[in-house]
Amino acid sequence: MLVTFPHMGNCWPAFKSLCENMGADVYLPNENNTQQLKVGLKHSPEWVCFPFKVTLSNFVECLENNVNKIVMATDCGPCRFGFYYAVQERILKDLGYEFDMYHLPQGDLLTLEWADFLRSICEDKSYATTLNIYRTARVYLMKCQLIQITEKLEGKTRCYEKNKGDTTRCLKRCVRMIDDAKTYSQLRKTRWKIKEEFKKIDQHKHNGQALKVGLTGEIQVTLDPFVNHDIKRKLGELGCEVHMDLSLYDWMKHKFHINFHRKYVEYLSKTHKKIGGIQLDIGGEAYWVLGEYINWAHKGFDGFVHIYPFTCMPEITAKSIITKWYGDERFQLPPAFFGFDEHAGEAGLVTRLEAYTDLLKAKKEKKNGNS
Ligand code: SF4
Repeated sequence: MLVTFPHMGNCWPAFKSLCENMGADVYLPNENNTQQLKVGLKHSPEWVCFPFKVTLSNFVECLENNVNKIVMATDCGPCRFGFYYAVQERILKDLGYEFDMYHLPQGDLLTLEWADFLRSICEDKSYATTLNIYRTARVYLMKCQLIQITEKLEGKTRCYEKNKGDTTRCLKRCVRMIDDAKTYSQLRKTRWKIKEEFKKIDQHKHNGQALKVGLTGEIQVTLDPFVNHDIKRKLGELGCEVHMDLSLYDWMKHKFHINFHRKYVEYLSKTHKKIGGIQLDIGGEAYWVLGEYINWAHKGFDGFVHIYPFTCMPEITAKSIITKWYGDERFQLPPAFFGFDEHAGEAGLVTRLEAYTDLLKAKKEKKNGNS
């Protein structure tokens, strides 16, 4: 019996370990790509969110390769994500595929429903012990944390690299190292090795000239470079130090109620109620996107890039509020917004990013008194 899960950027080593450590044989889905996406587009409702279409494409590819168990996360949140797994299961069964769909409830991880989910994917019940579930969860969380560390270093290094591509190659090496480390002690050593790998990159001096840009948005679009046309790399190559708090680990901590950074940005959004700060989770990352915008504005960042699926209601709400805040000069942080779906084009994105970073550079020079 082969188990699989959706592909989302660099998160696959964590998902893979979660299934493997419960004794399951894992089919690793392909990286998202244009050819594969065509199938998802063909079988999805036209109006549905882009992440739905991308994940459906993953599943078709896996089912064509003899997978018979699919793991899909679900939430009890206020937007469409909570329905993904059920609708996808219906579509795939109507197409004639035979498989079992396992939904991983992640609304509140303190309910420990995830432990029942882990037990359910075990075929060999000797893996279903409480001790093994604890070990599996610990290794999974540690892998999530290492992926976050790697992605943060990637964002802060690329704009200083002397040889174009070194950071991307280093990122890929580190993700493979995370996959290769199987035990807690190996993972501890990997944390140190990741930092060493990034230090080895030949870099220009950090002279304060790089633009500090915050990148955030809907989680699947933000974490998957195919879906967002590798916007993080493009920003780095245009001279931006890219700061990103969003990651799978950040999300996990939030769902375990121990994410104090999220608590802080929630507080920022709430305390700006009079000017439109969102007061509760309305789906996607909208609630936290507003808080991040305020947070990075207070920290004196040069730019703010918000990315989301084209029709994503919660993120579009956040976008409208931030547009108004900046227009009313409530904050001095210039935002840029990019919606992605199957029609998003590469050339238009690059042109807009170049124009945006040129404006940020001019603003920064003016602020520093160089013009
Ligand atoms: S967050 Fe946006 S893209 Fe994701 S399910 Fe909700 S509406 Fe769709």
